[in-house]
Amino acid sequence: MPHAQWVLPPSSSPRRLQLNMNKALKGIYIHIPFCESKCPYCDFYSTAPSPEAVESYVYAVLSELENLERTAEIYPDIKNADLKSDTLYIGGGTPSLIGGERLSRIVRLCRELYLTADAEITVECNPHSSSSELFEALAKAGVNRISLGMQSANDTERKLLGRRSGADAVLKAVNAAKSCGIDNISLDLMLGIPNQSAESLKRSVDFCAHAGAKHISAYILSLEEGTPFFKLRDSLKLPDEDETCEIYMEACEYAESLGYGQYEISNFALPGFESRHNLKYWSCEEYLGIGSASHSLFGSHRWFFSRSVDDFINKMPPVPDGEGDTEYEYAMLRLRLKDGLTYEGFRKHFGHELPARISEKSQSKVYRGLVEADTVRIALTRKGFLVSNAIIGDLIDCLY
Ligand code: SF4
Repeated sequence: MPHAQWVLPPSSSPRRLQLNMNKALKGIYIHIPFCESKCPYCDFYSTAPSPEAVESYVYAVLSELENLERTAEIYPDIKNADLKSDTLYIGGGTPSLIGGERLSRIVRLCRELYLTADAEITVECNPHSSSSELFEALAKAGVNRISLGMQSANDTERKLLGRRSGADAVLKAVNAAKSCGIDNISLDLMLGIPNQSAESLKRSVDFCAHAGAKHISAYILSLEEGTPFFKLRDSLKLPDEDETCEIYMEACEYAESLGYGQYEISNFALPGFESRHNLKYWSCEEYLGIGSASHSLFGSHRWFFSRSVDDFINKMPPVPDGEGDTEYEYAMLRLRLKDGLTYEGFRKHFGHELPARISEKSQSKVYRGLVEADTVRIALTRKGFLVSNAIIGDLIDCLY
């Protein structure tokens, strides 16, 4: 049922912040599953927005944030859990498509119910749907970090990736956000685009630095089944494996030469501007996801909402997704970080030592140049990051 205006559903027992200073602060993720059109490489769930669907969807998000009714259907303890959070991430899809007023209502409710005063509050935006009015509304609501989908500063590459605007629109959006007081800006880049060279990628990194980005995410393009790019895979001039490795290594080194330290396989930041929210994922800290296709980890349980917008609007409860925060999962996620898996971190998290077999294995000749291990941590090198799936699975198989 579409809701003509922004009203919160009636609530007999609204959630209010419960403080428990002994526990780590949580993260909140809100998924906005709308995109104007589908990018040819993307297999994320998103749908074209109709005004009625957007209204109903946001109403459903606000309702769940307020009462956690559906979440409590599969995880009753959530009603009594400490949900004090120091990060909110509104991702998509294209959150900026639903406009500043709707996003502000979500942010304000999260701040009222769950967020600390100094919370990192990020909204993903598309340059095409970003305006000064949007950033003014977001800044007023308390948003202090913007993640802009840029992919490339090269307009030919952008066009190939289905981006509707040129790099000038990215710069305009960055400047508009800054002039509204939001200067913690992350730009997304894509590596391994058809015809991309190390030089063109360096120019994109340069663009990020000159625009004043504090954070850069750089993901290697992967061909996902069912996407137009997958169908065209034989005719796309994709860099081969060696070229992609070279592009990745050069991009990482170049980003670091400009002051962006690599802290995760695909993420770089000026000192102090690492994404607090995403660091929670890689450290198995608890987070609550609201919205279609969003995932949660709480009390060692994982669950997710169906990808369908209609299911979310029609109050379908989330689906259990098994045990979370296991030793295997923790080690696997920590090894994505440059800091790696520390002995002390593992001990603190699980109350016992990391199995000796893992540290023994990490010293193996097989991993020379790919894994660095000392008495404090085990970490993948940059070369190791490129083959992380194979290494991590083998290194920690005894935890499985
Ligand atoms: S804007 Fe993002 S989520 Fe939407 S189709 Fe493109 S890549 Fe996918």
